Amino acid sequence: MRPITPTAIASSSKCLHSWYLDCFGNPEWKRKWEEGERLQLQRGLEYERKLISQLPGLVEPSWDGWDWQSGHDRTRSLMEEGHPWIYQGVLLNGHFRGKPDLLRKIDGSSNLGSYTYLPIEIKSHNQIIMKDRYQLVSSAMMLEPILGSIPTRGGVWLNTGEVADAELGKDTIVVAGLIEKMQEISGGKLKTESVRCGECRRCLWSTHCEDEWNSLDHVCLLYGISGKTAMRFKRAGLSSWKDVAVLTPQEISERTGLKMKSSISAFQHALARQTGRPVVRGDIRFIDDIPIYFYDIETYGHDVYLHGLIRIFGNEREDQQFIARDPSKEGDIWHQFLDYLSRDEKAIVYCWSDYERPFVKILKEKHGGNPKGLVHLETNLVDQCNWVQERFALPVKSYSIKSVAPYFGFHWDAEDAGGLNSEAWYKEWLETGDESTLEKILRYNLDDVRAMEEIDRALRKWILDHSSPLKISYDL
Ligand code: SF4
Repeated sequence: MRPITPTAIASSSKCLHSWYLDCFGNPEWKRKWEEGERLQLQRGLEYERKLISQLPGLVEPSWDGWDWQSGHDRTRSLMEEGHPWIYQGVLLNGHFRGKPDLLRKIDGSSNLGSYTYLPIEIKSHNQIIMKDRYQLVSSAMMLEPILGSIPTRGGVWLNTGEVADAELGKDTIVVAGLIEKMQEISGGKLKTESVRCGECRRCLWSTHCEDEWNSLDHVCLLYGISGKTAMRFKRAGLSSWKDVAVLTPQEISERTGLKMKSSISAFQHALARQTGRPVVRGDIRFIDDIPIYFYDIETYGHDVYLHGLIRIFGNEREDQQFIARDPSKEGDIWHQFLDYLSRDEKAIVYCWSDYERPFVKILKEKHGGNPKGLVHLETNLVDQCNWVQERFALPVKSYSIKSVAPYFGFHWDAEDAGGLNSEAWYKEWLETGDESTLEKILRYNLDDVRAMEEIDRALRKWILDHSSPLKISYDL
C-alpha cells in the first residue's frame, strides 16, 4: 500500500482526488515541473537553510534517503540523546512516513524523560494556513510511538521570522477522518472524482484532469463553479454545463440554492459555452479619443526588471520595452518608462489583474519620477481583466490572461510562458549572460502585452460585427 505522507495529507485535505491519482494514476499523466516552480522550490530550500543555520545545537540524521527504517532509527537515537533541534527527522508509523522540517525539544514529559518534541514547519507565507496545521498533525501522529502520546501543539516558522504556535487538538479528529478516507481510496474501496478547485493550478495532475473535464463537458468548466459549488451543481443533477445552459437563472438558483447573482453568472457562462460567443453583461464603451497603453512588468524577487508596453492611438501603434540588464538598474528603467509615458497629456494604461498597481506605488516611493508620466499610472491605471469580466461572459473557466487570450486565437511564442518562468529565465540570464535567454524574456513580455491588445481588438471587432450582440442582463 502506498505510504501516506504529511504532504499527501495536506494535499488531500484540499482535493482527495489527488490522492486517488497518486495511488492509481499513470505517472506519465503528470505535467512536468515548470522552471519557475523549480526556482521557487530552490529559493524555499535556500531560505530554509539560512534560517536553520541560526539554530544552536541543530543535528540532522544521517541516512541514505532510501532505507526509511534506518533513517527513523537514527532519528529516534537523536531524540533519545536529547538534541535541542533535529532537522528533517525521519518518522515512521505503520503506513505513514514523513520528514518534518524541524523537531524542537521542549520541557515536558514523554517516553524519553522530562522533555518532549514538537513538530515545526518552515513556510514562506505570513500566517498559519489549514494545510500547515494538517501537516503538523500528521507529524504529531507519527511522533506518538516514540513519545508515548500525540503532541497537541506544533509551530510554523513564518516568513515574518516568528515561530507561530499551532494548537493541533481539534484538527487531530479531522485528520484522522481524512486518513481513513485515504486508506479506503488506496485500498480500492472509495473512488473519487476530479472537480476543479483552488489547488488545481499547482497540481501536477492538472492537464490530465482538464482533459477529463473537457471530455465530460463538466460543470466545473464554468467560471466561478468549482470545488464545493461544483458539487452543489452535481447534487442538483447539473453535471454538465450543457444542463445549466437550458435552465433559467431562477431555476438554477432554485435547484442549487445559489444566490441569483451567481446563478445569473453561471447561466451567462453556460450560454457563452453553448454558443461559443461572448455574452454581453453590461454597458460597453471603448476608449478611442485618447491614447491607450497595454502594460506588463516582469519582476525578480522584489525588483522590477522589465516594463513592457504597447501604445495605441488612432492608426499609431508602438511597442516599447525598458529592461534592466541587472536588478540594480531598476530605478533607471523606471525613469525611462515614466518619461516615455509623459509624452501624452491624457492616457489610459491597461494592466491585467492589477499585478502592476502595488509595484507602481513601491517604485514611486523608491525612485520618484516624472510626474507627467506618473499621473497616468496613479489616476488612469485600469485592470483590463476586471473590465472585460464586468462586461462580457466568455466561454472560459478562468479570466487569467493565459485562458482569455487563446479564446481569441492568441498564442504565446514560448510554450512554457509564465510569470514565474520569466523569473527563472532572468536568473539564468544573470548567471550565464546568455543573450538568447534575455531575448526569450523580452519576447515573452511583449507577447503578454500583445495578448492584452488582441483581447481588446477582438472585443471591439466583435461588438462592431454584432450590431445586436447576445446581451443578457437582469435587475437584481
Ligand atoms: S488537478 Fe485539481 S482536481 Fe485534479 S487532482 Fe489536482 S487538485 Fe484535484
